[in-house]
Amino acid sequence: MADFFIGGDWVGATGGGTREIRCPADGALVGTVDEGTRADAEAAIAAARTAFDTGPWPATPAGERGALLLRVAELLERDKESFARAESLDTGKRLVESEIDMDDIAACFRYFGKLAGNQAGRVVDTGDPGAISRIVHEPVGVCGLITPWNFPLLQTAWKVAPALAAGNTFVLKPSELTPHTAILLMRILTEAGLPAGVANLVLGRGPDVGAPLAEHPDVDLVSFTGGLHTGRAIAAAAAATVKKVALELGGKNPNVVFADADFETAVDHAVTAIFLDSGQVCSAGSRLIVQEEIHDAFVGEIVRRAERIRLGGPFDPDAETGPLISAEHRAKVERYVETAIAEGATLRTGGRRPDDERLADGFFYLPTVLDDVRQGTHAVVEESFGPVLTVETFTDEDDAVRIANDTHYGLAGAVFTDDASRAQRVAGRLRHGTVWINDYHPYLPQAEWGGLKQSGIGRELGPAGLAEYQETKHIYQNLRPAPPRWFPS
Ligand code: NAD
Repeated sequence: MADFFIGGDWVGATGGGTREIRCPADGALVGTVDEGTRADAEAAIAAARTAFDTGPWPATPAGERGALLLRVAELLERDKESFARAESLDTGKRLVESEIDMDDIAACFRYFGKLAGNQAGRVVDTGDPGAISRIVHEPVGVCGLITPWNFPLLQTAWKVAPALAAGNTFVLKPSELTPHTAILLMRILTEAGLPAGVANLVLGRGPDVGAPLAEHPDVDLVSFTGGLHTGRAIAAAAAATVKKVALELGGKNPNVVFADADFETAVDHAVTAIFLDSGQVCSAGSRLIVQEEIHDAFVGEIVRRAERIRLGGPFDPDAETGPLISAEHRAKVERYVETAIAEGATLRTGGRRPDDERLADGFFYLPTVLDDVRQGTHAVVEESFGPVLTVETFTDEDDAVRIANDTHYGLAGAVFTDDASRAQRVAGRLRHGTVWINDYHPYLPQAEWGGLKQSGIGRELGPAGLAEYQETKHIYQNLRPAPPRWFPS
């Protein structure tokens, strides 16, 4: 096997390690891939360092780099079906959802392809006719990119596209659970004409392959998407070499529904917000915060719809959502629900595995609604990252904002109301990086994405998503050079 891409060559794991990838929907073997160690990560870092220090990519005109990204977008569209199938087999998610992800991935490469050529620096007025000053943007250097399993290639694209647009080289470490589309991406980047050594891929576990990317002095920036605890470890490891750190972490996202909201719109969004991809979405609307006078009708309707959601594998045409990613993750969700009930939450539906024999070999878990959860309890503080909705009630606007902000996370949230000024007021007061009004989940490549508080540091997408991968340099030139005579003797 030769699943690592290092310095333009396909190579295997030096230690001979391998990992079987099995589809979470039915346990079927998807493939066996190389499993790396620190030595493999270090070889990839060395290749990326050499390509950055001596290769053509950092000095390639930004417009040409952008043109290459536009070619990547076209190639991704050409190969959309094979990418989508690979993504669905690794994650267990429905094929149609992976197809949508592939469209979003191509759009991301296209956005940064166009942005790359439009990044002029600026001239600064020195106040002195004898001197000129310019601000220029340069690549940061070697980037370590560490990504999770829930949107494997989409999260990768959010890092790879801006890193390349800015002229960096990188080492990518995808989640060990979902490696296949990262391998396919390396082939596409090569076909598009990316010079050897610019893109490098090593597969393996976080502590073995991810940690060296955070620690190594030859890595200039580490960009991580994943859980809060891993993010803290990465930030601490990166501190030793004072490298740049970008973190996209979890969320405990409030979905605030006022009594005047259109009932059907709000209830339908609330169901999608949490049960899409079985809740394995960083911005999932996992905390329903509903005004008390509509609580009974609203939650009753959510429960009714949750009970009708059809579970199934990626290629089941009747399935509406899929399995959890692994046995370990399902066990974590089960513990989360047990703890919530022990703390006094009322289980309204779900809270167990489905009875359906067809699903017995997959890691399925029923859509679950926990009512009457109390603030400060485990259920509203911790992320379940599963199909579990918690319900809290509020009395008025101030109460809604207070509850929605009562979390150490700050990734995303929504407000549903018919009152446009209240919607804007509440959106302004929510301490979350994205706020949707009368909608849930849409995001745009041209709009920044990222977290406040412990949901992260930095932004992906949008102009700020490119700036993450750039250094800003001030170049000052004296047009009439002369000795300064500060020390005349
Ligand atoms: P995770 O933190 O377990 O793993 C993420 C990645 O980090 C994987 O590639 C893993 O191998 C690697 N890793 C693990 N330990 C490491 C270490 N010590 N050093 C370096 N790398 C290490 O997260 P996960 O379970 O894969 O993903 C789920 C989490 O990701 C959830 O908390 C979710 O909210 C978050 N997430 C956030 C966003 C966002 O945009 N904010 C998007 C998707 C997922």
